[in-house]
Amino acid sequence: MSSTLLKSVLYLPCRFQNGICRVSTQAIKGYVAENEPMFDYGPGSSERKELEEALERHSSQVTDIPIVIGDEEIRTNVVQYQVAPFDHQKKIASFYYAGADLIQKAINVSQQARDAWEKKPLEERSEVFLKAAELASKKYRMDIVAATMLGQAKNVWQAEIDSAAELIDFLRFNVTFAQQVTSYQPISPNATTKNTNIYRGMEGFWAAVTPFNFTAIGGHLPAAPALMGNVSLWKPSDTAMLSNYTVFKIYREAGLPPGVINFTPAEGVVFGDTITSSPHLAGINFTGSVRTFKHLWKQVGDNLDTYRTYPRLIGECGGKNMHFVHSSADVDSVVYGTIRAAFEYNGQKCSACSRAYIPASLWPEIKKKLLNIHKEIKMGSPLEKDSFVTAVIDDKAFSRIKGYLDYAKSSNTVKVLAGGNCDDSKGYFVEPTILECTDPQDKLMQEEIFGPVLSVYVYTDRDYHEVATLANNTSPYSLTAAIFCQDPKARVELCDLLRNCAGNFYINDKSTGSVVGQQPFGGSRLSGTNEKAGGPHYLMKFVSVQSVKESMAPLREWRYPSMD
Ligand code: NAD
Repeated sequence: MSSTLLKSVLYLPCRFQNGICRVSTQAIKGYVAENEPMFDYGPGSSERKELEEALERHSSQVTDIPIVIGDEEIRTNVVQYQVAPFDHQKKIASFYYAGADLIQKAINVSQQARDAWEKKPLEERSEVFLKAAELASKKYRMDIVAATMLGQAKNVWQAEIDSAAELIDFLRFNVTFAQQVTSYQPISPNATTKNTNIYRGMEGFWAAVTPFNFTAIGGHLPAAPALMGNVSLWKPSDTAMLSNYTVFKIYREAGLPPGVINFTPAEGVVFGDTITSSPHLAGINFTGSVRTFKHLWKQVGDNLDTYRTYPRLIGECGGKNMHFVHSSADVDSVVYGTIRAAFEYNGQKCSACSRAYIPASLWPEIKKKLLNIHKEIKMGSPLEKDSFVTAVIDDKAFSRIKGYLDYAKSSNTVKVLAGGNCDDSKGYFVEPTILECTDPQDKLMQEEIFGPVLSVYVYTDRDYHEVATLANNTSPYSLTAAIFCQDPKARVELCDLLRNCAGNFYINDKSTGSVVGQQPFGGSRLSGTNEKAGGPHYLMKFVSVQSVKESMAPLREWRYPSMD
């Protein structure tokens, strides 16, 4: 670890029991999480060497990943493969699809595990996830990072900030948040009455349906309900299987009892149909596309008469995130922020900047600087340390993005300023692309592309009110947005005009890079139900509060004085 980054790690005192590190429950009460420091993987560093070894280990084998229900590992004859997106002939993992019967079995097993888990005190459940955070931080850090690089094509830094730092932060901060949100107790106004809130997990099971693009989200969506006393079925994405399974195994090694989280890879539609038709569905914790979330929501609506309780639906979906630049902006911040936000992880962050509104007076300078940097960006394998852009996740993503680029090249209102080409002969490579659109309502300014494509609309400086209003109404999403503006008056106006266009709003900073505990994350409109993962309120979604009133004064009368 680089010494500059070694600051202030909060390690909990450990006592050893049967060779396992147990975190004392005394230490858990009042536990205050801190963000995980990050390795920088500089030349000659020990972490770079350890990572090289982990990459070698994982790329020299095809890891076999079973379905795990309770304590049982299951392999079916429906074998699937996860390949490296930057070298699609290279298989890195094999896995199996659970059919409806196995998904049903996982539901049954989860229900058997529920009672004992739900009744454990929060501190004991917290102990498991703090232990998991320690394992992810040390023993398995390089394995998760390597699996994320190989399977999801993240370069070292992107893999580190996601699969190490963010995952560990979710696990630790949720322990702090869980104590905060369950600390409220109602008043008991006299000595003869005692009022109590009991923070219970929900009856039934949660379905955690997770996306490819963040290992941290994969691990978080089943872990957050489990921390609050729920059980779940985790359906990982086919294209994030290796990293997600590594995280699942960490949870089990940390002491998570069998059946609390069941690892059930499956064909999306089979999984969706089976969980939404179970009377025991407590909720769906989903991150992915709008299309899939709407489909699941409709299925829940169709099955409403089936359920024992109203299922809770959490959806974190897509975005069409913008950088809105005012003529008073600091140009370098705009340029560097936009390059990072648009092209890091190939534009496959839900928060990626995908449209920019730039005042005409600044455009020549911003354009020149963007194009100069564009020439320096290296696209290549994530295993080459200097690759900034790598391959997009799979053939479906490749064709979708290529479709937008073909459209851009054929449109007479769109100019391709840089990039625009793709090549899937070895991996799914799409060049980082900068487009200039003269129509602010062009589909390139409205639709989520989810690839390394930035659409720019240049506006007349003095029209910034109208253009901000237009930008607010251009897309059905409301996930992230950034304004770049030094002028105090314009800044207040823009914050007001763009108040509803984003769940995460940035001022003079790029639209990506939220940190657990610092910028709780989520969006509204079609972007999702805005539950703010990485903040305390999120956890209440997994809690069913029981209010208990106990009277210590026996009743001696049925009549009221008003009746006399
Ligand atoms: P996706 O919708 O294709 O897949 C998400 C998950 O749903 C996968 O596990 C998939 O197998 C599963 N699935 C597909 N059909 C299903 C069905 N009928 N029933 C049940 N499950 C089904 O999305 P993706 O390509 O993995 O992720 C990319 C999307 O996720 C983008 O739109 C991105 O913006 C969004 N995203 C949003 C956030 C956020 O916090 N708002 C974070 C990450 C990703």
